[in-house]
Amino acid sequence: MVTPEEFRAKILEPAKKTEHICWQCKHLKPVITESKLPPADLIGWCTKLHWPFYWCVSEYDVITKCYGFEKK
Ligand code: SF4
Repeated sequence: MVTPEEFRAKILEPAKKTEHICWQCKHLKPVITESKLPPADLIGWCTKLHWPFYWCVSEYDVITKCYGFEKK
């Protein structure tokens, strides 16, 4: 039996691979492979720090520590 998070990770492959801590955080909504809409430098959106708005997480500002981090 897989968890909802494991199932989501299986079918929604992220488009980027970076050193961001966000990849282990349950609040990241990643840009998925073959997505055409978002700006090219995004790895995804943080759904926590500026709630109720999404915050764009840039590929080039690598986040290694975050007060909002919560492990998936
Ligand atoms: S809460 Fe912090 S670690 Fe989590 S997705 Fe947002 S910016 Fe990344």
